[in-house]
Amino acid sequence: MFKKVLIANRGEIALRVMAACRELGIRTVAVHSTADTQALHVRLADERVCIGKPSSRDSYLNIANVVSACEISGAEAVHPGYGFLSENAAFARELETRGIAFIGPTAEHIRLMGDKVQAKRTARELGIPVVPGSAGAVDSDDEAARLAGEIGYPVIVKASAGGGGRGMKVVRQAGELRQALAAARAEAQSAFGDGTVYIEKYLAQPRHIEVQVLGDGQGGAIHLGERDCSLQRRHQKVWEEAHAPTLTPESRGRIGRIVAQAMSAMRYRGAGTIEFLYENGEFYFIEMNTRLQVEHPVTEAVTGVDLVIEQLRIAAGLGLSVTQQEIRSQGHAIECRITAEDPDTFLPSPGRVTQFRAPGGLGVRVDSAIYTGYEIPPYYDSLIAKLIVHGRDRTECLARLRRALDECLIEGVKTTLPLLRRLAADPDIAAGQYDIHWLEQTFLAPP
Ligand code: ADP
Repeated sequence: MFKKVLIANRGEIALRVMAACRELGIRTVAVHSTADTQALHVRLADERVCIGKPSSRDSYLNIANVVSACEISGAEAVHPGYGFLSENAAFARELETRGIAFIGPTAEHIRLMGDKVQAKRTARELGIPVVPGSAGAVDSDDEAARLAGEIGYPVIVKASAGGGGRGMKVVRQAGELRQALAAARAEAQSAFGDGTVYIEKYLAQPRHIEVQVLGDGQGGAIHLGERDCSLQRRHQKVWEEAHAPTLTPESRGRIGRIVAQAMSAMRYRGAGTIEFLYENGEFYFIEMNTRLQVEHPVTEAVTGVDLVIEQLRIAAGLGLSVTQQEIRSQGHAIECRITAEDPDTFLPSPGRVTQFRAPGGLGVRVDSAIYTGYEIPPYYDSLIAKLIVHGRDRTECLARLRRALDECLIEGVKTTLPLLRRLAADPDIAAGQYDIHWLEQTFLAPP
């Protein structure tokens, strides 16, 4: 096992990775911007290196600075967390050439799956069902019009380099296509520096269901079941569950086997998530994330497997600590994302946390990097805490979640807690009756 690992991230995920390192007896190196000197990940790490100014571009996204921090500290490996450099193939390659392990897949796999057009092609070749759509990138407006006609409206124009719900435009009828293409291309160009787009059938009422995988890079791969992440606002997840409320054990097993087989064929290394839309009993691949996800704790809650420890083991060449047969999932888990935002307008609400008290008790986990007196900087993501609750079944889980949300106290900044409390009490949620549109079109819709 490694002796020293550098965590190239901040916030709750930096603490989460640190916890796994501690349990394995690994020394941790935190990196931080000048805005994060008082951050918990900096205070709790064994060593710390300042990597630049507040803006992510100058610090957490600055490859040269992060690599220098590795060399200064003598870290043998880097855990990238999620976001920032976690899906940056150039970063993974740069570390590789310096003999530092990247705790994740090969640079080649990151590149392949980071390009959604290529990812879809690869998935199809590996026997994974995909959303009907263009075979590849769509170059001309005329080609797009012909394809969209064939696929049938509504269609969705998506950015090949996309992420975080950006560069996506739904097109209801032929007359809107040209404008949507131009808008998606422009958004993708400015967000990702790549204006390549493709077209997919826009599914009417799907659920977002994703499968967690672990591969050892030698052809060994397992799946750890699925998560339902259909509760989204602006294509961003708000609430995640394991297992998916509507899935039968048969369809869960079927998709899990398809995915694990594909990962084994790819010789995939590390943790990954294969995302699907699920409609009328069918799965349709949309993308693969080649990293740990924000919502990984719900899978940990039901399987008892520490995904970060597995990532560290795989990167150190020790292989997985569990086999597919040993994966037994128990009960139900739900994660709520608590953000520092106005619960009505969703405008960011950075500032000083005057009071923080996390709920606890049986089956309750809070992953957070805030504390009483902490000043939430305005430069980064607004996620400030994840509440993860586990119960023997979904009913018990929901009751425990409502209790934990009521006991969670965050003062000084606005948070989405009031919204999450209302959500946890909603009858449609209790019935498990929701698709990817429900949150925006039913729950948040103006009366
Ligand atoms: P990103 O990487 O930007 O998050 P994804 O491809 O993962 O983009 O899609 C994010 C979300 O957008 C999905 O969870 C779903 O809600 C919606 N979406 C994407 N593709 C489609 C589609 N073909 N039909 C309907 N909704 C879609």
